[in-house]
Amino acid sequence: MKKVVIAGAGLTGLAAAEFLKRKKIDTVLVEKEARPGGLCRSEYDNEFFFDYTGHLLHFRNENWKKFIERELRIPLRRNIRKSSIYLFGRLIPYPFQYNLAWLPPREKQKCLDDFLSASGKAENSASFHNWAKNSFGGEMYRIFFKPYNEKLWKYDLRKLTTGWMGRFVPRPDRKLVVEGAKRKNAGKATGYNHIFYYPQQGGIGALPKALANGKKILTGSDILEVDALKKEIIVGKNKIKYDSLISTIPLPALAEKIRGIRGISEKGKKLKWVGVYNINIVFRANLKKFGHWIYFPEDKFEFYRIGILSNFASLPKGYSSIYIEISYRQKKPDVDIDSILKFFKLEKSRIEIVKKLDIPCAYVIYTSDREKLAAEMLEAFREKDIISVGRYGGWKYSTMEEALEDGLRASEEIVKKLKSSRRPLVC
Ligand SMILES: Cc1cc2nc3c(=O)[nH]c(=O)nc-3n(C[C@H](O)[C@H](O)[C@H](O)COP(=O)(O)OP(=O)(O)OC[C@H]3O[C@@H](n4cnc5c(N)ncnc54)[C@H](O)[C@@H]3O)c2cc1C
Repeated sequence: MKKVVIAGAGLTGLAAAEFLKRKKIDTVLVEKEARPGGLCRSEYDNEFFFDYTGHLLHFRNENWKKFIERELRIPLRRNIRKSSIYLFGRLIPYPFQYNLAWLPPREKQKCLDDFLSASGKAENSASFHNWAKNSFGGEMYRIFFKPYNEKLWKYDLRKLTTGWMGRFVPRPDRKLVVEGAKRKNAGKATGYNHIFYYPQQGGIGALPKALANGKKILTGSDILEVDALKKEIIVGKNKIKYDSLISTIPLPALAEKIRGIRGISEKGKKLKWVGVYNINIVFRANLKKFGHWIYFPEDKFEFYRIGILSNFASLPKGYSSIYIEISYRQKKPDVDIDSILKFFKLEKSRIEIVKKLDIPCAYVIYTSDREKLAAEMLEAFREKDIISVGRYGGWKYSTMEEALEDGLRASEEIVKKLKSSRRPLVC
């Protein structure tokens, strides 16, 4: 009898289970948390909810939008991005490079001059530092791209590769930079996320909730060990046998837990990542004018971004809910709530709820050896019938849409494998 086990019931694992179910293949999901959903869970407090920082849907492939709306039956609200960068004591519309007209005159001119002399020199640059400096010019790099990315990645930008950027940090359009320096609001509708979607009701947790329906999920089951030779996973005192394992747990964690693959844990130890500490605050106040989210490149703020959930989600009237994001490598940061109150010009008495959430593994750091290490590890797992997928299983920078795609692909791989085997498929 063949048994397909899925380690981790986040969006990727749940999607894999869903697509396997459609092929009449049952699965068992093993999840360490008390509820499925992974990073796409929502936490609830009376009539309020909180996501693990902002989780907004933007689609490259409209079929995934249809899948969520029609098959998962989650109505989505369409939003036109309203986001900005807080710099020089003012809110500058995002994207920064297409809104230079909002800067003080001296900085605007310096940004434009540096851009015009630097542009076009960014081909084939492996380091983010070189790429960004040569693409945007020295001044834009100095005042925005460098401090913002240092705050987010907590890693030397000269060593950070450009592998994660893709559509997230596209090459600047020369005409738009120049136009944006001449007049305000020239670069409104650009970027991968200028339109985004969010569930009309509840939080992003609506997605995993719908996908979890009808699946066999062992929650509260922390996988301690995976024996690749005996094909079994150890959860507490129990052993769960598998024929094929889809793993969505972070690659370095799987490498540490695995037995029977030589040299894999040493490779896992070389992988690097940052955590994100997420503070959510509900205020009795109206923060409509601040838009959907704000980037904070300046050193005086320890957080790199604040999002205003209530400006795109349905929450009780008279309240605003914000999420604050601070990244960290080793030690969870302390957060100065006063600096947040000061920024929004609010008294402490306006605070209704403070909810702190931690994402210990949030962003995979694109070190120079990430691609090679990850490829070797994934191959070694595959040889032992383990498909490691998803944002953390595949060790990459990716979105919820890609998590659904990864789940689909993993399910197809299993179907193909099982078809070529003669034994019956039973969970
Ligand atoms: C700060 C932040 C903001 C983001 N914003 C967006 C956004 O706006 N839009 C977007 O599209 N994407 C966003 N993402 C990305 C999105 O969260 C991921 O692409 C998606 O959630 C990945 O799902 P996954 O199932 O691969 O991983 P996860 O959600 O991490 O699921 C893995 C599961 O494995 C479980 N697990 C781990 N270890 C064990 C173990 N030992 N035993 C059993 N179970 C285990 C975990 O508990 C978890 O449930 C964001 C990510 C972060 C960090």
